Amino acid sequence: MSISFRKELDELSAYKPGKPIEDVKKEYGLDEVIKLASNENPLGTSPKVTEALKSEIDNLAIYPDGNATLLKETIADNLNIKPTQVLPSSGSDEMVDMISKTFLDKEDEVIMADITFPRYISTAKMMGAKPVVVPLKDWTYDLDGMKEALTDKTKLIWLCNPNNPTGTMFAEEKLLNFLKEIPKDVVVVYDEAYREYVTREDYPHDSMKLLKEYPNIIIMRTFSKMYGLAALRVGYTMASEEIIENINKIRGPFNVNRLAQVAAISALKDSDFVNKCYEVNKEGKEYLYKEFDNMNLEYAPSETNHIFVNVAEDAQEIFVKLQKRGMIIRPITGTWIRVSIGTMSQNKLFIKLLKEVLN
Ligand SMILES: *Cc1c(COP(=O)(O)O)cnc(C)c1O
Repeated sequence: MSISFRKELDELSAYKPGKPIEDVKKEYGLDEVIKLASNENPLGTSPKVTEALKSEIDNLAIYPDGNATLLKETIADNLNIKPTQVLPSSGSDEMVDMISKTFLDKEDEVIMADITFPRYISTAKMMGAKPVVVPLKDWTYDLDGMKEALTDKTKLIWLCNPNNPTGTMFAEEKLLNFLKEIPKDVVVVYDEAYREYVTREDYPHDSMKLLKEYPNIIIMRTFSKMYGLAALRVGYTMASEEIIENINKIRGPFNVNRLAQVAAISALKDSDFVNKCYEVNKEGKEYLYKEFDNMNLEYAPSETNHIFVNVAEDAQEIFVKLQKRGMIIRPITGTWIRVSIGTMSQNKLFIKLLKEVLN
């Protein structure tokens, strides 16, 4: 006799993170290693957040507020919605998981793009639901294709705008036309992890107005990217009170830790930091575009803090060669890599090393 595991797990494998900087240093005997692989904020965190955290450090023995009341209220105030329409989570990662657990039964169909955020498909499989994968078109969401993929069994649709790892976006008009056509018993999850970086005006900058019109939409945001709090694991989600209430039923009682709550509240108040990060990212993006143009490398237009670029050689091999030189990026598919936009000196070093490794 031996124990058995849920058969859904046969379809899954554990998430493989990139090598940590310390491991790469040791392995190749390097003093300095730069990671442009995980879309982290190269400017770190707002100094105001660091200050706020110092005053909380003496309270580690005390459980966090399980309801995250103050954080919810701060978010709701900023967005002009009710606190009961907001649910913070331990990163958006946890929210993707909770949404799948809240809605998916076996045999339900879940529409998503390829290539996009990998947690959408893994959590669907985890629940025994059926992923229906619609390829990108020109590295952008094919919303018409996704609409055509609807069946009686469709339960959930994942939209990531702008998309990770391609950095591309779709315009507000396209989103509105899409939502109009989706039956109201299908849940649409709209992941805005990179919204703060978007430069284009035709982006749906005010997604909160969708909440009023569509009771079936869930909007996810995170503190991991623009706010530089990836280590603390905190994100937030907006939806109808009914949806929030139901997700809340499967939420762990203290899912957002005390430091994360304090940091998130403080981060939302420092718009100067956000503005600075936006400018540094925009400048870095323009620099990298210019260098890629000079090198004749094709890339997808990015509205995020990363660029999806065709290095015209095997991405995995380029990844290894760059890593040996102390530069970590993410190989994605074929000859395409994803590089996070860093500080200007990091961007320049990346270009220098990329030129070295390309034939
Ligand atoms: C980084 C990212 C998130 C946020 O992840 P966290 O768990 O909040 O760190 C969510 N969605 C996408 C598409 C991302 O790239």
